[in-house]
Amino acid sequence: MAPEEQISLFGSLEPSISPASSAVPAHFDPALIPTSAKVPIPVGTYGSIDEMVPHCTTCHRCELGQSRINSVIGRGNPQAPILVIGEGPGQNEDETGLPFVGRAGQLLEKILASVKLSAEQDVYLCNIVKCRPPGNRTPTADESDACKPYVLEQIRLVNPKIILLTGATAVRGLTGDKRGITKIRGQWIDWQGYLCMPILHPAYLLRNPSKEPNSPKWLMWQDIKAIRVKLDELTA
Ligand code: SF4
Repeated sequence: MAPEEQISLFGSLEPSISPASSAVPAHFDPALIPTSAKVPIPVGTYGSIDEMVPHCTTCHRCELGQSRINSVIGRGNPQAPILVIGEGPGQNEDETGLPFVGRAGQLLEKILASVKLSAEQDVYLCNIVKCRPPGNRTPTADESDACKPYVLEQIRLVNPKIILLTGATAVRGLTGDKRGITKIRGQWIDWQGYLCMPILHPAYLLRNPSKEPNSPKWLMWQDIKAIRVKLDELTA
């Protein structure tokens, strides 16, 4: 089936991503997915995150596919209670194919460990875009939109109790909320039935090392404590 036929048949599919939903039409051809952002990725296309890998590693749904070394899909526990969604891969991530492995990622792991959360067991980490924006620029809205179906599938498959959105780009990419991160960090929001909290990006904390009250690091400490309390409530 040509992409145009597939689009005309299925249109732009972005329905509820609840785990129980499956919107894959009978005549859907998944081989077309990596070729064009116009080809929708129906909910339920992938049975596991591993099944996404061949598509992401060959994907050219946006221009970021031309300059990447590796697609960076995710790491951690795919059944984790917490899903962390960041902005996009940086140089270390592009080289290793793993998200959150540079200095910012190491700081995030320390922040999680400060409330006894393991990045391997308690968390699954991924990004709004799977390929590195050149020069670590912010992904464009078109790039985020092109990659969004993959992150929607990751959310559906992990089915976390809590989603943490690190930085404004992650918030905007998933929810469309364009407010600044300092306005909305630390607030619980409901997105399609998932409990989400926007938090500061660890790279921002690296640039602002003060631990004084109301500093970015102090605010993150308040947020991660609230996240730990909420997780304990949800898993009690
Ligand atoms: Fe495909 Fe996402 Fe990479 Fe763009 S960023 S090429 S949509 S995997």
